[in-house]
Amino acid sequence: MNPGALLIGGVIALALVSRSASSPAAYDAPAAPPTPAPAGEFVDGWVNGVQSSIQVADVDEKGHQLRVDAAAAFIAMRAAAAAAGVALVLNSAYRTYAEQLRLFNLYLAGEGNLAAPPGHSNHEGGIAVDVESAEGTNAAFHWMTANAADYGFRRTVSPEPWHWEFA
Ligand SMILES: [Zn+2]
Repeated sequence: MNPGALLIGGVIALALVSRSASSPAAYDAPAAPPTPAPAGEFVDGWVNGVQSSIQVADVDEKGHQLRVDAAAAFIAMRAAAAAAGVALVLNSAYRTYAEQLRLFNLYLAGEGNLAAPPGHSNHEGGIAVDVESAEGTNAAFHWMTANAADYGFRRTVSPEPWHWEFA
């Protein structure tokens, strides 16, 4: 079950209750928005070079964030992997434009991994994850190769076995 869908259902139910309780005026003003969604916060995102506002949620204790639908899918996938004895640990998830710019400059200087120009990484859209693979075992990589598609994640950058995207 997608927590986002539950939340949206809750908001709609609240709005309906609020409307039925209000007077039958000619125009029903939309109900004031409820308290900020606990599912996440809205941030600046970029997908395929287009800027947009995206809602992200934390997915681990280190503060990594993903777009809410990708976050729910990743959390479910991580639980399934854990049940199979495999830890899915993130090295990177959502990145701001500024962070992508920093990584791109490191790449240009020959001091970092291949990095897309700012505005052009799906990390900035909150749908890409870099998953740590234990040195020598690649357990996470092998588990994801067999199972990630069931959760909507696929590899998109062939020289980067750690990079997966939600679609
Ligand atoms: Zn990546």
